[in-house]
Amino acid sequence: MTAKIIDGKAVAAQVRADIAVRVAEIKSKYGFQPGLAVVLVGEDPASQVYVRNKGKQTAEVGMKSIEHKLPVETSEADLLALVDKLNNDDTINGILVQLPLPDHVNAEKVLNTIDPMKDVDGFHPMNVGRLWIGERALVPCTPTGSIILAKSVQENLSGMEAVIIGRSNIVGKPVAQLLLRENCTVTLAHSRTKDLPGVVRRADIVVAAVGIPEFVKGDWIKPGAIVIDVGINRIPKDDGKSRLVGDVAYEEAAKVASAITPVPGGVGPMTIACLLRNTVEAALMQKGLVA
Ligand code: NDP
Repeated sequence: MTAKIIDGKAVAAQVRADIAVRVAEIKSKYGFQPGLAVVLVGEDPASQVYVRNKGKQTAEVGMKSIEHKLPVETSEADLLALVDKLNNDDTINGILVQLPLPDHVNAEKVLNTIDPMKDVDGFHPMNVGRLWIGERALVPCTPTGSIILAKSVQENLSGMEAVIIGRSNIVGKPVAQLLLRENCTVTLAHSRTKDLPGVVRRADIVVAAVGIPEFVKGDWIKPGAIVIDVGINRIPKDDGKSRLVGDVAYEEAAKVASAITPVPGGVGPMTIACLLRNTVEAALMQKGLVA
């Protein structure tokens, strides 16, 4: 079997196109423009690229994009004051504080200060709790994107055996909850899981979120499974440059799976698309336009 390659770039482009239509409808029907504020503290090069891309794609779908770039020495108090100001700004519907934050700032405190209704990253305990009890919530973006990709090849996931490798709050746990919502039978595996290859071999859907390059081997994959690779690992090459690989040994797994996401070009592009989706959702919730 040769797996279908799930084209994350194309699916993300479709999600953004749908959002652009919804934003235009919101403007004409309700007379306002949804707005996203992104806060960046310091000069981390990867964070700068993410923030630039977020701003660009926000504007492209017709939303208002605001960037606050603060020096690395910004105090926690000043950052909290900015979050408070954005919480109270009616023209801002989503607030994203780019991680990592400098060591002198308590990231948890900052994230927990964001109004849960504007928490487009879905990291606030209120949204985490609402997701777990099955209520409407703002859901973390990478997990949402992973599920959209799985559903792009199989709309109905009900009854499928899903194994997620990795139990972080950012990826593994929300993915587990979303797959439970899809009526999968869910196993959340981690570093203490016994016989991980055996556990993964049971899976109709494998989601790898481990952070170890090419960790999941081809002979762990059940023939015909759907493989969603969340991992992004930079590997040095002989010529001094680097290349990106996922947490799955792609070439091996692609021979066994029915569908697989590549790295790059799989889950990665979905994250910002889902952030934009969350911003629209947040705007509609704040205006009382959704239940
Ligand atoms: P974390 O480091 O927070 O979590 C890694 C998880 O993998 C932990 O639960 C850990 O288990 C588990 N793990 C580590 N070693 C093993 C092992 N040997 N066997 C089984 N499980 C193991 O990572 P994240 O969840 O933040 O990220 C995971 C990957 O996803 C990374 O490559 C990251 O770059 C990528 N990522 C991609 C995003 C995107 O596409 N936009 C966004 C976010 C992340 P334990 O809990 O027991 O320690």
